[in-house]
Amino acid sequence: MDTTLRRTALFASLLATALLAACQTSRQADSASARPAAAGTLPQTKESQAAMTPQQALAELKAGNARFASGHPRSRDPLADVKATAPGQYPFAVVLSCLDSRVPIELVLDQGIGDIFSARLAGNVLEQDVLGSMEFGCKAAGAKLIAVIGHSNCGAVKGAIDNVDLGNLTALLSRIKPAIDLVPGDSASRNSKNLEFVDQVAEANVRLVMRQIRERSPVLAEMLDQGKIGLVGGMYDLSTGKIRFLE
Ligand SMILES: [Zn+2]
Repeated sequence: MDTTLRRTALFASLLATALLAACQTSRQADSASARPAAAGTLPQTKESQAAMTPQQALAELKAGNARFASGHPRSRDPLADVKATAPGQYPFAVVLSCLDSRVPIELVLDQGIGDIFSARLAGNVLEQDVLGSMEFGCKAAGAKLIAVIGHSNCGAVKGAIDNVDLGNLTALLSRIKPAIDLVPGDSASRNSKNLEFVDQVAEANVRLVMRQIRERSPVLAEMLDQGKIGLVGGMYDLSTGKIRFLE
């Protein structure tokens, strides 16, 4: 009787061990299959950059933000990317976005080392050095797309609406002010407490900057006209992590 019991206990114990092992294997398989198909993708190369069209560059920015906003960013090895990009860089886009700490642009677009050129200034304003940087990125370094990304609840936009006067910030905010006039509405609702108005001005500012890029850079205007590069705007939502692209 004792022997039978001992055998039963031994069998149960072996069965439990086998089940546990099977369970772990299945869990490992699950996490492997849940990994995105592009896992381990290296940064942009000369070949991948050359093969990319402006439309494909935009599609990748959209796909990257979708990966980020769904909580499934691409698995990367940043140190391997550092080594891979050390001899040269082939980014596919130039992105102008805001200084805001809540909009780390590579992160929210799910792009890694060597993938995009990034210019960040409060209110994603355009000035000559930014234009020069965009010309470098596209004409000299081969990027296929310029993206101007504003965001909701932008402090710089609020500062422009409130006529903030502070050192060098005053001149920066003056670049946003023309966007305020582009948004219609009665004077009572035109203040920084009205977040809907703030976001409308931020979007008008993105569209204004897009227009200024074309007007102020013959180099980029020619590339745009020839279809060698694309230009897109976008509004990042601080509360969802999603970018609404303006086409
Ligand atoms: Zn901002």
